[in-house]
Amino acid sequence: MPPVSSATALSVIVPMYNEEEALPALVSRLRPVLDGTGVLYEVLAVDDGSTDRTAELLEKFRTDWPELRIVRLRGNSGHQAALRAGLHSSYGAYVASIDADLQDPPEKIPEMLDLARSENLDIVYGVRSDRSTDTGFKRRSAGAYYWLMRRMVGKQVPAQAGDFRLLSREAVEALKSLPDQHQVYRLLVPWLGFPSGQVTYRRGERVAGETKYPLSKMIRLAVDGITNFSAAPLRLATWLGVISFVTCFVMIAWTLVVFLLGKTVPGWSSLFVAMLFLGGVQLICVGLLGEYIGRIYTAVQRRPTYFIGYDSARGEAGESAGKKGN
Ligand code: UDP
Ligand code: MG
Repeated sequence: MPPVSSATALSVIVPMYNEEEALPALVSRLRPVLDGTGVLYEVLAVDDGSTDRTAELLEKFRTDWPELRIVRLRGNSGHQAALRAGLHSSYGAYVASIDADLQDPPEKIPEMLDLARSENLDIVYGVRSDRSTDTGFKRRSAGAYYWLMRRMVGKQVPAQAGDFRLLSREAVEALKSLPDQHQVYRLLVPWLGFPSGQVTYRRGERVAGETKYPLSKMIRLAVDGITNFSAAPLRLATWLGVISFVTCFVMIAWTLVVFLLGKTVPGWSSLFVAMLFLGGVQLICVGLLGEYIGRIYTAVQRRPTYFIGYDSARGEAGESAGKKGN
């Protein structure tokens, strides 16, 4: 009988999207580590609507690994939504999350658990000490991202901490109670302000397959993070307006001086540039307003960010679909 009760000491959430190539390596590395902890655990494989053989392989692995639990989302809902599905479905007294591609070492999970238990911590971050295996672009964009997020959310956001971490049940329940629609956990978790510790590790290379984070998804994560934590971009409109106003004033004064001096200037180009500038500023501001209004709209709709199609611990989860998502 798989451990699906409150006696479960540890849940390990693994969001996965089209990870058929990485899956066998993941299972053969994760299982001995978790078996070695000696605690009752569950591995929550959240299949984020994979279209390859991920689902089939998971079923196969589950036949001789009862601790493996499969939660399948009805469609590709994104990494953070998959994590959310995992957090909401988990039973463990501690809940770890780890990527499926083995870039984060599973061997660190028992270390995180020991640290949390011995020091009574609610959060243990996995912090990357070395990103030399990532591409130059990924390193630079990540550097800029964490710089911006630390300025926005506060210094408690550890630089270089992704979604490899361990949470206590209290921290999980606190996250579950938040009404935010598009949650960015690497920012929300530090924002909770629970007692926390760190475990450093070397970020390895993806064991197999391609990254499931194309630039478009990275940008969406960054925009979600910024708009969830700050209304500062809205203030940009005010500042651009002030700058335009002052510039206009100077130009009026200058035009008057030129007029009084009796020189008529054919100022078509300056007029044209000013018009384009103002048009651009207005469009940027309208776009920014649209971004926030769009978020207010989705928040008001309160639609779930994912639907669970199947949960191996509960059978066909049709009846809980939707309810689980908010
Ligand atoms: N992932 C997911 N849904 C998505 C995209 C990614 O569940 O829409 C999972 C993916 O399978 C992996 C984790 O999120 O387990 C991190 O993705 P990836 O390793 O591709 O990102 P990278 O390490 O390249 O930033
Ligand atoms: Mg990866």
